[in-house]
Amino acid sequence: MRVVIREVLNVGGFFAGETVTLAAQRWPDGGPEQTVTIDDAALTNVIARHLLAPGMILELQFAGDRVEQATLLGAPDYAALRAAWRQPPIRPTPTPRVLSFRCPACKVWVAATGDPPVCAVCGAAAPQS
Ligand SMILES: [Zn+2]
Repeated sequence: MRVVIREVLNVGGFFAGETVTLAAQRWPDGGPEQTVTIDDAALTNVIARHLLAPGMILELQFAGDRVEQATLLGAPDYAALRAAWRQPPIRPTPTPRVLSFRCPACKVWVAATGDPPVCAVCGAAAPQS
C-alpha cells in the first residue's frame, strides 16, 4: 500500500519503543487518514525515523496489522529526500548520473532508476535538463 504522510504524530524513544506513528493517507488516490505505527526495524531505506516528514510517500507492506516493511519512495522537496533517504551504493560511471528528480507525474522528488533515468515509482522519464 502506498501512502503519503500527512502528519508525524509521535516518534517513540527508548521507553515508548523504537517506532514512529504517522497520520497517513492512501497515495495517490487519497481517502480517509489512518494512523500507522512503523517499527524502526521495518524502515528499509530511511536513515532515521525522525527524518520522516509530512508529504513523503511510503510503500508499506503489512503482516496482519503490523507494518513489516516501509520504503521511502518520494519526498516533497529535494532537501527532505536527501536527508532521509539511504541510497544504495552507487556504481561509478563515466558520465554524470541522475539519482533523483522531481517527477512530473508523481509531483514529488523521487529516486531515479535506469539509464536514461526514469521515476522509480511510476516509470515516467526524468525531465531533460
Ligand atoms: Zn513518478
